[in-house]
Amino acid sequence: SRGILWFRQDLRLRDNPALAAASKECDELLCVFIDDPQDQTISQLGAASRVWLHHSLTALQASLRKKGSELYFAQGPSQEVLEELISQSGAQRIYWNRCYDPVTIERDKSIKTALSDLQPRTFNGLLIHEPWENLKSDGSPYRVYTPYWRAAATALGKEPDRLQTLNMPRNIPALSDVAAQALAACVSLEQLELLPCRDWHESMLKDWQVGEDAAQAQVERFLKSAVHGYDEGRNLPAEQGTSRLSPHLHFGEVSPRHILNRLLLERRLSALSESETTFAKEILWREFAYSLLFHFPQTIDEPLDPRFRKFEWAEQTDEHLRRWQRGMTGVPIVDAGMRELYATGWMHNRVRMIVASYLIKNLLIPWQAGEQWFRDKLVDADLASNCMGWQWTAGCGADAAPFFRIFNPVLQGEKFDKQGDYVRRWVPELAEVAKKYVHKPWELDAQTRSGIDYPEPLVDLKQSRERALTSFTAIKGTK
Ligand code: FAD
Repeated sequence: SRGILWFRQDLRLRDNPALAAASKECDELLCVFIDDPQDQTISQLGAASRVWLHHSLTALQASLRKKGSELYFAQGPSQEVLEELISQSGAQRIYWNRCYDPVTIERDKSIKTALSDLQPRTFNGLLIHEPWENLKSDGSPYRVYTPYWRAAATALGKEPDRLQTLNMPRNIPALSDVAAQALAACVSLEQLELLPCRDWHESMLKDWQVGEDAAQAQVERFLKSAVHGYDEGRNLPAEQGTSRLSPHLHFGEVSPRHILNRLLLERRLSALSESETTFAKEILWREFAYSLLFHFPQTIDEPLDPRFRKFEWAEQTDEHLRRWQRGMTGVPIVDAGMRELYATGWMHNRVRMIVASYLIKNLLIPWQAGEQWFRDKLVDADLASNCMGWQWTAGCGADAAPFFRIFNPVLQGEKFDKQGDYVRRWVPELAEVAKKYVHKPWELDAQTRSGIDYPEPLVDLKQSRERALTSFTAIKGTK
């Protein structure tokens, strides 16, 4: 029979359950990626992610060609496109891996109904546990991470097979020439116009290798070396102490199953070292984010804690927001993070927390403004992890940091960027400043300060902290 394999957030050939099933059950397979303007998971993401997507699709196309197959592209509302493709190709079956954002869930449900004649088959290729699987004993979702992790780890102990991965299919059946020629609904990858007209993206990608093979290599590199010092290394933004797998995971170039499988190497979770366990927990944080998004879909743009709807944010914040976005707040570690993001499409997790706390608590700008900027600028922009990260920092999400815990960016810098190397790398204006002042250049003597072209702090850190606490006190006792 002839089938359609619809690629979405699973841009890989290995450990891809929908592809494995389709390759086995069909004699001919139409592999397609649809750029759907309504698709919240992929197409509505920002410019940096679309650049990554372009290169990831290029890599996937090359891998499929090596197997004698081809990746087709189409643009438009998915249901209409699929109906056209079915009528043009004469496909009798359809396969895809599930996504979990609310808009896509609704869209996919209606596609499943509309295409019921083809008996659509859907799979879990994105997560280890489906969002509806790892629940409390009363069937409700976890809102706190530690018990979520414990339950997930226990379940994995009982069902080690869950981490079994699927090999790359030996054969991916190609579409016959006749069927391929009838595909009038398809366009070229270039016609999707995922790359921006201006060429800023080339410098952004110079430190990245995109695609499934690169993701696999990065897993191996990280697991051989940095994972052993991860407990400490993951907090040091000047070091390469983390895996940098987030964009690969977001686009499904590698599965979390594969990563845990390679981490464990036949061991049980309980046999991992402390650093390895911390890393496994981070992989599961991502799953927790997907669970929250699934069970509390309103958290895409609303605080989970309803008291925060009444929170009094600052007025007239355009200039402050712009200075934060550009890395010109006058607070070195904040500016270093924002410039790293702008230049590379990525930011270290410790610094994500610092810049988010500064925006929300020192500048009193709603977390949604930061979430949107991240969504546009991150190559790993992910609805679930981004919303969770911002609400965690704001103190208004599930298992959030308490609002009164306000990061002091100077102390954070002095603790996690002791020598100031991270700041000097991204804020070259401070390259010559001594370690003692690199996180607080406003304390330099007036003469030295006047020789440095770097802004004064936008707000006083102590006063703005007090202001945030006062605003929080106003909503604290409310419901
Ligand atoms: P590693 O430390 O090597 O961790 C391995 C993997 O675990 C990551 O690739 C990621 O998939 C997962 N992970 C690690 N930490 C977290 C976490 N806190 N939440 C969810 N998953 C996690 N991550 C995204 O993937 N996309 C986002 O849009 C995103 N936005 C964020 C916004 C804010 C305000 C904050 C505080 C965090 C955000 N994170 C986001 C989480 C985290 O910062 C990144 O996943 C991490 O920095 C990616 O780098 P890495 O791959 O080297 O991570």
